[in-house]
Amino acid sequence: MSQTRLHVKLLDRTPRAVALIYAACRQCYSVQFAGAIFQERDGAGRRAGFIRKVVASGHESPLEHAKFTFAVEGVSRALTHQLVRHRIASFSQQSQRYVKETAFDYVTPPSIARDPELKEEFERTMEHVQECYNSLLAKFKSRGKVGEQAFQDARFVLPQAAETKIVVTMNCRELLHFFRHRCCARAQWEIKRLAEEMLRLARRELPEVFETAGAKCVDLGYCPEGERFSCGRYPLKRNGVPKRPRRVKRGTG
Ligand SMILES: Cc1cc2nc3c(=O)[nH]c(=O)nc-3n(C[C@H](O)[C@H](O)[C@H](O)COP(=O)(O)OP(=O)(O)OC[C@H]3O[C@@H](n4cnc5c(N)ncnc54)[C@H](O)[C@@H]3O)c2cc1C
Repeated sequence: MSQTRLHVKLLDRTPRAVALIYAACRQCYSVQFAGAIFQERDGAGRRAGFIRKVVASGHESPLEHAKFTFAVEGVSRALTHQLVRHRIASFSQQSQRYVKETAFDYVTPPSIARDPELKEEFERTMEHVQECYNSLLAKFKSRGKVGEQAFQDARFVLPQAAETKIVVTMNCRELLHFFRHRCCARAQWEIKRLAEEMLRLARRELPEVFETAGAKCVDLGYCPEGERFSCGRYPLKRNGVPKRPRRVKRGTG
């Protein structure tokens, strides 16, 4: 067993995503057939500019036609419990029922990792959990239960810190939504790290859509979280009036 680190790999994304989103968008306003628009080979700059305008306008449904698939490892079960709350996404997660955890890796929160006393206690607890899991498996075996029959019940002692691997697919509209919530300073640190890494990869592949993506304050020009939770980067919305206009230049959030 050992501590582990976040690793995100972009597995795949919709090919010709710009042409696809452009064709879907244009179908709303054009007498032409999207099938013909999609085949157009020139006008890359026009297509990119059109998509940027559409994203800025909030007309987001055409973005649903293009999707991204990420492989994620080195994250905790605490993270994936939050991640899978995003319903407009597809997930395939490593099973603790089929995969034996006799040497489980775990994620250590930074607040614990940088404090020697807490770190020592945390690591001791992980070792104890491992011993307990292994002991349950041994006892199940002596009672004739092996494989998934044993794993599925022994896993009940595993911690939220236990490392897991998951494949995530989201369409571009859901990704923007995910980034608005999970790149926010108020988001939990681990899922925020994941969201920022996914945003970095998505932005590199499809800047037409993701160049200005990020936490919701960046989009709104004010912080909707309220005084208690605001990180202070953007002014609070007071008396229903944002202190800055919408659509300010956006960064990573
Ligand atoms: C800072 C923070 C703190 C949180 N704290 C808690 C907490 O304490 N407890 C808790 O349980 N959760 C908590 N959550 C999770 C949160 O409530 C959402 O479940 C999670 O962020 C997924 O968001 P979503 O539902 O908007 O996203 P998705 O499921 O990805 O949905 C995207 C959008 O689709 C639409 N949509 C999807 N499904 C439906 C539906 N059935 N009906 C209508 N519209 C739909 C909505 O517009 C939704 O915003 C927290 C999230 C954050 C970011």
